Formats: sequence, structure tokens, C-alpha cells
Amino acid sequence: MLIVQKYGGTSVGNTDRIKNVAARVAKYRTQGDQVVVVVSAMSGVTDNLIKLAKEIMPLPNEREMDVLLATGEQQTIALTAMALHALNVPAVSLTGAQAGIVTDVVHTKARIHNITPKKVHELLKQGNVVIVAGFQGETPEGQITTLGRGGSDLTAIALAAALKANLCQIYTDVDGVYTADPRIVPTAKKLQEISYDEMLELASLGAKVMQSRSVEFAKKFGVVFEVRSSLNNNPGTIVKEETKSMEGVVVRGVSLDKNQAKVTLVGVPDKPGVAARIFKALGDAAVNVDMIVQNVSHGSPDKVGATDLSFTMDKPDLLKAQKVIDRLKKEIGLRDVITAEKIGKLSIVGVGMKSHTGVAGKLFETLAREGVNIDMISTSEIKISVVIDLAKGEAAMKAVHAAFIG
Ligand code: ADP
Ligand code: ASP
Ligand code: MG
Repeated sequence: MLIVQKYGGTSVGNTDRIKNVAARVAKYRTQGDQVVVVVSAMSGVTDNLIKLAKEIMPLPNEREMDVLLATGEQQTIALTAMALHALNVPAVSLTGAQAGIVTDVVHTKARIHNITPKKVHELLKQGNVVIVAGFQGETPEGQITTLGRGGSDLTAIALAAALKANLCQIYTDVDGVYTADPRIVPTAKKLQEISYDEMLELASLGAKVMQSRSVEFAKKFGVVFEVRSSLNNNPGTIVKEETKSMEGVVVRGVSLDKNQAKVTLVGVPDKPGVAARIFKALGDAAVNVDMIVQNVSHGSPDKVGATDLSFTMDKPDLLKAQKVIDRLKKEIGLRDVITAEKIGKLSIVGVGMKSHTGVAGKLFETLAREGVNIDMISTSEIKISVVIDLAKGEAAMKAVHAAFIG
């Protein structure tokens, strides 16, 4: 069997953990499996590199950021190869570029264009375990890129697709996907399986157990994968296409995204083309806008009215967004700009919502009982999200979990 195994930051957090990974890999290899290992940087390393860069300047050049961040994973591939050598297992480390991972040029959140894993195939054929640096690739011109935070998940899933692996295992520090982050909600339950769509929503809405883009990729290419623990042998959670039986459950999971920021534009002229200009400029600056709420205009037929417009994005994009808005403020004639970072986005997700009613009412009632004010609301067929005060986020999450899941 050809197996792709991905080990996250905590799983390679120190040399003992790396030895532990090597022992697990060696076990599979002794059984006769071919193993491709994808590793993250040791836990804390990427965060620390970002901190160092920001000490130099608040908005560092993104090309240089990628050159810096890619070094984290490069340390771990070499150490993991050494740990396998120490067990007499032949192993070779490869950077993302050496493994044939080609991306676009959107530095710090590049997308994979294609993978030509020629070298991986060659090394496997010679009997090696191949260890690939997660989270990185290179452009067709040879620039180093990274795939967005948590991007080693994407490396693993994309490699599993390109290599047509028989198995893709994502090893982390929890033994599967839970109905909520078990560190916040102690009563959260482990799921045996979850559909791509539910996992995708949970991941994009703050459940960092999987990078959302990696789940999108898995869905597109039909890569079935298992999320499991590197610290024990418990069976994990299988992520796969939706089955009929999954629809019986209304709410599969609850997530809380604490990494959001909000910008409110006060007194936006209410005429055609203004929103287009604002959001085009934000898009051009690579700011990923999430929720957008516009108030009803106070205008009259003979006079251009004004309205308020709020939008949310990931916190790290706030500075970039502020720069764009500052530039537009005069041009468009905005009265005021207010930013908020102490917000949280709480969401409930489940494919069963398609066929059940009353879910929103129950969610709002639960929040009201907790004294939580709802700032913004957004829904899709299988999720409801609300923006609330960050300070009340965890308590609200527990209450909502108790109401819908138990
Ligand atoms: P890795 O370094 O292995 O990629 P991450 O820290 O990125 O690991 O993701 C694992 C963490 O995700 C867990 O420690 C857990 O706190 C968090 N998490 C958030 N939501 C969930 C969830 N629904 N199920 C499991 N873990 C979750
Ligand atoms: N090291 C990168 C990060 O911390 C990628 C990953 O861990 O998946 O975001
Ligand atoms: Mg991760």
C-alpha cells in the first residue's frame, strides 16, 4: 500500500516526538507499505518567525515572508529523516519544490497549480521513506511560496491525490474531529465520520483541526482521509463524501473563530458602484472578505442617502484592509471608519439543516438566554454563523453545543 501520513506541529514538537513519528513510520514500512511523510514546522516555529518579521516591520514584503516561513518545515524534514536513519530505515527529505509542488504567485496563500512528483516516485522505488516539507511550493519561475496557515494539510492531501495513494492519514494532537473543539467544550464527542461539506464549513469557520483549503481539495479530487492522533492508536475520523444517513443529524458540529476582525464604514454614499469599488479594491489587495452586512439606506428619491456597511475578514488581513479603506475614504466620501478586533464568529454546521426547520430560532433563543447579543448573521444551506462579542464566545459555544448536541 502507498500511504501518505501528515504530522502536525505538536506531533513533531520536540526530538522525542520526532523519534515517535519515525517509529510509527518504520512500523508501516516493516509491514511492506510505501510511506510518504509530510511534516509541519515544530510547534511554535512558524508563529515565532512571523513575530520576528513583524518586529522588523508591521507589513513585511510577502515574498520575503515566504522565504522565511518555508525554513520552519525544512528543519523538520531533515530531523525526521535523521530519526528514521537512526532506526536503520532509508529516508530522504524533500522540500516542496523538490517534491514537484508548483503553485501560483500569491505569496503567503498560494494555490497549488499542479504536482509532478517524479522524484517522490523514484525515491520510493529505491526503497526510501520520502519526507516532504508541508506548507510550501514554488512558482513556475522558482519563487518559494507558502500555502496559508495550516497548509501542511493541503500538501498531504494534494500529494495523496497526485500519487494516487491508497491511504491518507492526518496525524495531529487530538484523536479525530469532534463536535466542537474539545479544548473549549469538554463534552464534545468524537465523530466516526463527517462529510466533506461539513468538514469544509467547520474548518472555514474556525475549527483549525483541518485547513479549509485542504478539505476543498480533498472534495474536488475525492481523497478520503482520516484524522487521528500521533500520540495513541485510537481510530480517528473518516472524512468522505456525504451519505444518506448523515442527513439524520441536524447539527454535526459547532465552531468558534476568534481570528476575525470587523470594519464598519459609516455614511457610505448609497449609489450604484460604491460597494463595487470598495470590494474590488479589497480584492486587489488580497484581503479575503467574509461576511458583509449593509444597513437600509436613509435616502430619499431626490437625494443620495447614506448607509453603513460592515464586513469581516481574518485578523491578519485587517492592516491591509485599513490601508485600502484609508485610500478610498476621501475619494468615496465616507463619514467614518470603525474597526473591531474583539469579535468571534460562532457557527453551527450540519447537512441535516437542509431538511430540518427551526434551527435558527433555537440558536438565537439559546444565545438570548446566555445574554449574548448578535452583531451579524450569515447562513448557507448547511450552516448558520453569528458574529458576537469575543469575551462571550466560549460560554456561548458551550451553551449552543449543549442545546444542539448535548
Ligand atoms: P496540527 O499542528 O497537527 O496541524 P492543529 O493545532 O492545526 O494541529 O489542529 C489541531 C487542534 O484543532 C486541536 O488541538 C484542537 O484544539 C483544535 N480543534 C478545533 N476544533 C476542533 C474539532 N472540531 N475537533 C478536533 N479538534 C479541533
Ligand atoms: N507551519 C505552518 C503553520 O504553522 C503550516 C502547518 O503547520 O500546517 O501554519
Ligand atoms: Mg494544523
